[in-house]
Amino acid sequence: MHRASEPASIPFIDLAAQRRRLGAAIDQALARVLGHCQFMLGPEVAAFERELAEFCGARHAIGCANGTDALVLALRARNVGPGDAVFCPAFTFCATAEVAALVGATPVFVDVDAATFNMDVDSLLAGVRVARRLRLRPKAVIPVDLFGLPADHEAIAEAARAEQLVVIDDAAQGFGASIGARRLGTFGAMTATSFFPAKPLGCYGDGGAILTDDDATAELLRSLRVHGQGRDRYDNVRIGLNSRLDTIQAAVLREKLKIFPEEIAARNRIAQRYSEALGDIVTTPAVPDGYRSVWAQYTIRVDGGRRDALAAALRAEGIPTAIYYPIPLNRQQAYRHYPVADGGVAVSERLAAEVLSLPMHAYLDAATQDRIVTAIRRILAR
Ligand SMILES: *Cc1c(COP(=O)(O)O)cnc(C)c1O
Repeated sequence: MHRASEPASIPFIDLAAQRRRLGAAIDQALARVLGHCQFMLGPEVAAFERELAEFCGARHAIGCANGTDALVLALRARNVGPGDAVFCPAFTFCATAEVAALVGATPVFVDVDAATFNMDVDSLLAGVRVARRLRLRPKAVIPVDLFGLPADHEAIAEAARAEQLVVIDDAAQGFGASIGARRLGTFGAMTATSFFPAKPLGCYGDGGAILTDDDATAELLRSLRVHGQGRDRYDNVRIGLNSRLDTIQAAVLREKLKIFPEEIAARNRIAQRYSEALGDIVTTPAVPDGYRSVWAQYTIRVDGGRRDALAAALRAEGIPTAIYYPIPLNRQQAYRHYPVADGGVAVSERLAAEVLSLPMHAYLDAATQDRIVTAIRRILAR
């Protein structure tokens, strides 16, 4: 209980507000699944896959158990394994690099751009040189659409063409975002996404999907997600995983997808409000011309070593923040021994010391946002 003089705590992400909005639609969707009892790969999964593919303009969507598996399945679909180098940003969630190691390949860390937080293509090319020197085969690149902003997919595609790399887009945070009129889902050979509850399009548990335009790849992914089954369920033609999207989660996602475009618009209005209110005192996130983010996170940069003090002062006022990500992957115990692109990843290391993500979700009201902005301005003016 907080005393009357203390303002209430603000949620960092308000899933309950969205739940209230969806109300009976979710209850009814769940009741339908409880009625037919096809809990694995039931009709809602196929329907959701069609709707998801249509939403982003990809030919195929293949549901799976989570975003990490979506990346593993994508790597497996291209036979990425021992001796192969997989290029990942150093500044991302660990799963991006974890999956390369899981399939037996070697993650090679690449630096990011300070303004967009996304993969720096010059550093990618420097990473390819390191891989060759180490006698690894440069095989795949996993650009991340970090915090919801699409990576520089045009430049990445050009570098990937020159170096013959498979592009697997990690859109776990960026699904729904676009460059021009084109939504994420068709940049690269495959796009992986996550429906973890806190992602912009989240379910009520774990879930994920892979998007692709290639028919043969889609068929392979559908086999790989069910133990590598062939035409007959008990005839296994390859080693796969058990990685399906639950019917219950697909039923939830179908309802959430209907309101997703409105939520993306709301997130963009809220982000713009933050940027207008804070742009003169901190570094607010850059959005290149023609790009549209889904704002998985709204992340400012606070320099001069004041970031942690700002976070602590906000916490004391009931305003939560988060640091995504406090340690670049190349500095973490599990990943330290993997190669880093020539020239290092200095930007990733600086960002880890400066970034601060503010409360962000589609239901953040103006009064609450004003309270956050006012507190930040007051604390930084001290
Ligand atoms: C969340 C996330 C993943 C993994 O998704 P899960 O569904 O949690 O397995 C992968 N990459 C990035 C960038 C993420 O943010």
